[in-house]
Amino acid sequence: MKASSAENLRFFNTLTRTKEKFVPIEEGNVKMYTCGPTVYDYSHIGNFRAFIFEDLLRRWLEYRGFGVTQVMNLTDVDDKTIKGSREEGVQLNEYTARYVKAFFEDVARLNIQKAEHYPRATEHIPEMVSLIKKLLEKGYAYRGKDGSVYYEISKFKDYGKLARIKVEELKAGARVKADEYAKEEAHDFALWKAWDEEDGPVFWETEVGKGRPGWHIECSAMSMKYLGETLDIHCGGIDNLFPHHENEIAQSEAATGKKFVNYWLHNEWLLSEGKRMAKSFHNYYTLNDLMKKGYDPKAVRYLLLATHYRQQFNFTLEGLEAAKGAIERLTNFMYRLRDADGKGSGETSKQLMERLEKNFSEAMDDDLGVSEALAALFDFVREANNLLDSNLLRKEEAQQVQSLMTRLDGVLGIIGEVQKEAKLSKEAEGLITRREEARKAKDWKTADQIREQLKAIGVIIEDTSQGVKWRLEKR
Ligand code: AMP
Ligand code: ZN
Repeated sequence: MKASSAENLRFFNTLTRTKEKFVPIEEGNVKMYTCGPTVYDYSHIGNFRAFIFEDLLRRWLEYRGFGVTQVMNLTDVDDKTIKGSREEGVQLNEYTARYVKAFFEDVARLNIQKAEHYPRATEHIPEMVSLIKKLLEKGYAYRGKDGSVYYEISKFKDYGKLARIKVEELKAGARVKADEYAKEEAHDFALWKAWDEEDGPVFWETEVGKGRPGWHIECSAMSMKYLGETLDIHCGGIDNLFPHHENEIAQSEAATGKKFVNYWLHNEWLLSEGKRMAKSFHNYYTLNDLMKKGYDPKAVRYLLLATHYRQQFNFTLEGLEAAKGAIERLTNFMYRLRDADGKGSGETSKQLMERLEKNFSEAMDDDLGVSEALAALFDFVREANNLLDSNLLRKEEAQQVQSLMTRLDGVLGIIGEVQKEAKLSKEAEGLITRREEARKAKDWKTADQIREQLKAIGVIIEDTSQGVKWRLEKR
């Protein structure tokens, strides 16, 4: 049974600051643009909070029966990538290739579904130039004394509608060449940056001059190339809201005369030590850092996923331990289902499944309420474990539960394939062997002690007439 009703699907739209019913332009299909990494360094798990939120969004849309076309750009030319490559003395593409490769490795390890397109800025210069030319022709852009082309924000009547700033209150005619700046510094911004010495060998000879694109024009040009002039959804971290997304709207809408994006969705910060996780604060972890500490990427995914995307939360290793425990609980449950062969629960298991499906879907439909969805899932696991404890799940019932769990995991991406055989850790295997030896030697005290040790790591031992049996305890 595929849940196809998207009747109740609602998202919080940053443009209107309200939750709105989601209706795509084209029935059944969603066009979604997600600002990708700036490949000047290894992405940290704060960046991956954004990409995992977008992955959850995509998976939920698919669960609800939509086809999704997702575009995620790779910003491989901007102030930061140029600076990095110059400091190392290597070519820009050689410099960014390392971080692009690392990014895709992490995407796979975090079980993030691939977007349909990953356009690179350096491969779309002609599209950007043609958009800039259009803005010049229409009178929204002008050439500054330094040869750069700027966007004149006072010409676009809706400037500031996303970030809610008023252009009249700003200093007229002031210009900003940098890619990033604060709301208070909203000025005419660079669409095309005339070459200067700091750019070194990075430039293109084009109809708008020798130079390179500004960051914002990259996303307008690439989103419209792959998705058309109006997109259903555009996502990014909250820091992208201004100036990046405001400027994307100004560029795109001035050029086409059409609404650029129907739904803007922004994720909040992942914090660390109480502050935004960021390279500049030296408070960040990469996925590799955490894997070196022995954590499974699935636990990282779970942790980044489990808090609602519009809420900030603080990353800690204790939090990651808890995420690990949550995944173990789900995996153990799957093993128990696989081995179930009980008397039958009457209507109970069916009712529990219906309740889970209803509560999970209602939560996710309401602006991706993943915390409530997970709460519903763990309630269900607890009650189904009770049925298993009393040996009340028939094989077929257990299979139905397994398939529901697998379907919901298609949205969460945290359990994955459960191995055919439950595997014991090396530690547990060693303990079981030692206990057998103790029993042979009739050393019951040691055998009992080892039984307790095994219990503490979630392995339950039963001495049956056919020998010793073990199972994993529900947790
Ligand atoms: P960047 O590679 O800097 O362009 O960032 C990639 C994505 O990560 C953007 O959508 C950012 O908004 C997002 N981002 C950066 N830092 C954090 C953080 N600490 N928490 C959540 N999202 C972040
Ligand atoms: Zn962007």
